[in-house]
Amino acid sequence: MASQAAPPEADPQALQQRIATLTRLVEVSRVMSSTLQLDPLLEVIMHAAEEITGSEGASILLVEPRTGDLQFMAATGQVGQELIGMRVPLEGSIAGTIIAEGRAIIVDDVSHDPRHYREVDEKVAFETRSVLGVPMRMRGQLVGVLELVNKAGGEYGEDDLENIETLASMAAVTIENSRLVGSLERAYAEVSKLDKLKTDFIAVASHELRTPLGIILGYAAVLRDDADNEMRAYADALYNASLKMRTLVEGMTNLRYLQLDEGEMHLEPVSLASMQRTAYDEVYDLAAAQDHIFICEEPAEDALIVADRAKAVMAITNVLNNAIKFTPPGGVVILSAGRHGREGWITVRDNGYGIPQEETERIFEPFYQVEDPLTRRHGGLGIGLAITRAVMQRHRGRVWAESPGPGEGSRFTLAFPLAG
Ligand code: ADP
Repeated sequence: MASQAAPPEADPQALQQRIATLTRLVEVSRVMSSTLQLDPLLEVIMHAAEEITGSEGASILLVEPRTGDLQFMAATGQVGQELIGMRVPLEGSIAGTIIAEGRAIIVDDVSHDPRHYREVDEKVAFETRSVLGVPMRMRGQLVGVLELVNKAGGEYGEDDLENIETLASMAAVTIENSRLVGSLERAYAEVSKLDKLKTDFIAVASHELRTPLGIILGYAAVLRDDADNEMRAYADALYNASLKMRTLVEGMTNLRYLQLDEGEMHLEPVSLASMQRTAYDEVYDLAAAQDHIFICEEPAEDALIVADRAKAVMAITNVLNNAIKFTPPGGVVILSAGRHGREGWITVRDNGYGIPQEETERIFEPFYQVEDPLTRRHGGLGIGLAITRAVMQRHRGRVWAESPGPGEGSRFTLAFPLAG
């Protein structure tokens, strides 16, 4: 009967060794999935490689795309820190040969190997005796080498090679992820810069528009008052159009409040009724221009809320502007205020076009409008409610919309925390 060689697993010591190695590899992959920080991850991978193979040091060399040389990116062991940044030529080095041939290399005694690049050892006063190096690939491309040096008490074997190949592909994934995250971060920074430029431009442009618009509005009002019957309709149209334009320009000026900073808030105790009155006065002309019945229901008892007065008034007028805009001429818009538990509420009701129930949350998203932007009958940038929500969040307050449905009117509530 032919005798069969016992598989290594039959040897209890080998089996234990295998389990320890696999446990270590699992540990490495667990760390890999818990963080994206490159340096600590490579440390973990190199320490595992060192430990599993019983080596004196481990290093990762990457191909420098500009020069084609290899450069130590990370290294462990006695001289690890000194190695980082050092260059190794592709020709005349073991690491370079690994890249050139695209396969792993084991050298048990480097002293007689012409491929060994001695300069590194000389520079850091280290003696390399044996080397195990495996290529690292990213999406099929050779990008670097994972190298182990000086196996204690023996030679590198097939097991070592297999384990280091696994760790090399882990290192490649780690580096690839970190590069992707890096380029994402750079792209995000670029987008944020552009976004800021856009916001700044809109803020400056809208600010500049305000003065000439104020003049147009002023003269339009004078013309309207003085016009005889024939001219009256023209003057009305001019006045109403410039009122709408003012609302638009104000919306543009307020765009920056979408990213409202905590530091920009000046919170203090404010009278709910006085805020209600200011907001009412601000949009009165707009409501009158639409022939709306515009009612201010004052609370029986005032309440003190915590608010940044100017920003809170802006949040309320945004909602009022909508109620006026999305209600057909001659409609009813009611602004009321009152205390509800630990909050002071401002409520805006209208009997206008209403909102489909499934849209009452989405309308608070920036640039979301219920009407198709291409066939819209109503002007607007689609940011008023998003700004209102941002402002309310900075007040630690709330804002929400309710509507029985299209054609049934809407109700918006802004809830501010009470003072004291
Ligand atoms: P804009 O008014 O510039 O379109 P907003 O962010 O202020 O942008 O409002 C988003 C959308 O919410 C509006 O386009 C409209 O579809 C809907 N909406 C807001 N308020 C009302 C309201 N009172 N009645 C009906 N629809 C409204």
